[in-house]
Amino acid sequence: MASTSPELTTTTTPLLGQSLEELTDWVKAQGQPSYRGKQLHQWLYDKYARSLADVTVFSKEWRAEIAAVPVGRSQLHFRSVAPDGTVKYLLKLADGHIIEAVGIPTERRLTVCVSSQVGCPMACDFCATGKGGFLRNLETHEIVDQVLTVQEDFEQRVSNIVFMGMGEPLLNPKNVVKAVRSLNQDVGIGQRSITVSTVGIPGQIRRLAAESLKITLAVSLHASNQTLRETLIPSARQYPLEALMEECYEYLHQTGRRISFEYILLSGLNDLPHHAAELAEMVGGFQSHVNLIPYNPISEVDYQRPSDHQIQTFVDELKKRNVVVSVRYSRGLEKDAACGQLRAQKLAS
Ligand code: SAH
Repeated sequence: MASTSPELTTTTTPLLGQSLEELTDWVKAQGQPSYRGKQLHQWLYDKYARSLADVTVFSKEWRAEIAAVPVGRSQLHFRSVAPDGTVKYLLKLADGHIIEAVGIPTERRLTVCVSSQVGCPMACDFCATGKGGFLRNLETHEIVDQVLTVQEDFEQRVSNIVFMGMGEPLLNPKNVVKAVRSLNQDVGIGQRSITVSTVGIPGQIRRLAAESLKITLAVSLHASNQTLRETLIPSARQYPLEALMEECYEYLHQTGRRISFEYILLSGLNDLPHHAAELAEMVGGFQSHVNLIPYNPISEVDYQRPSDHQIQTFVDELKKRNVVVSVRYSRGLEKDAACGQLRAQKLAS
């Protein structure tokens, strides 16, 4: 019996982000044999189906019935390739909102930088996304879609995912965790190759630890003391560094996973030798990795990016104190500049 009520077919949540089990339950609820679940899973995640009308292994009759069930793929609104091969995508969601995803190819890897929200409410002073305000959380399928879009476009399997696009992932923990599980189980990306980056939301790092995922947690510190951090990150006033670091310790102990700390370098402001000393002191007990990110100028504020010499001095100060440190230059800088700027520019034009 393949017939189904119109209500069932039009009100279903999008299929993307659902597991093999959930998809199998869905096809069975539509009166179909369970092997159709496996076929549906394959067409969604391996064959990039955008509509159930495209799934030609299903009978014509059934396809016609379920054609209106949303798969959950977003529309490509704009695509731009930087000279270094980085590709930025603006994706249009079903409600018309625009989000940004980035594909970053390196020698053997393809990393996708995904957004977790439309905009961001954290309003960090140096971040372009924060200047645009916050609209809403992304749904699970809207996160998974970003990765499939990049994988399909590059015709290459995505190897790594970083939640460093628009938004604060830990303000959207339910959908982010569901997306991480789907990216792992359905898209086939190792949990160890997925990084969730957060500026810190009280209680949420603890909550993430309880999910027992093998992902990497990146914590956006950006300052070596509370006073300085409050000037850059408004939410830091309600969440002192001490409490944030305490949660990081708990995370480390519960999951056994090392944390990496992100630190944006702002010339003369947080990149002096005494800042390096404070930072080393703070992360000392963690055996962690510190990623230094030289500031990418955005038009709304007048922070400066440090010179190569200043950056090297800061690195040396950390190394002297046995901190494992890397400098990460934002990719694709030549064309569309920093985080969130492509969206801002294209929407304004
Ligand atoms: N809300 C999360 C995820 C957003 S990604 C978080 O804060 O971690 C945040 C990262 O974007 C920061 O760690 C920083 O590395 C980067 N970033 C934001 N604005 C930047 C800018 N103007 N220049 C360089 N990096 C920037």
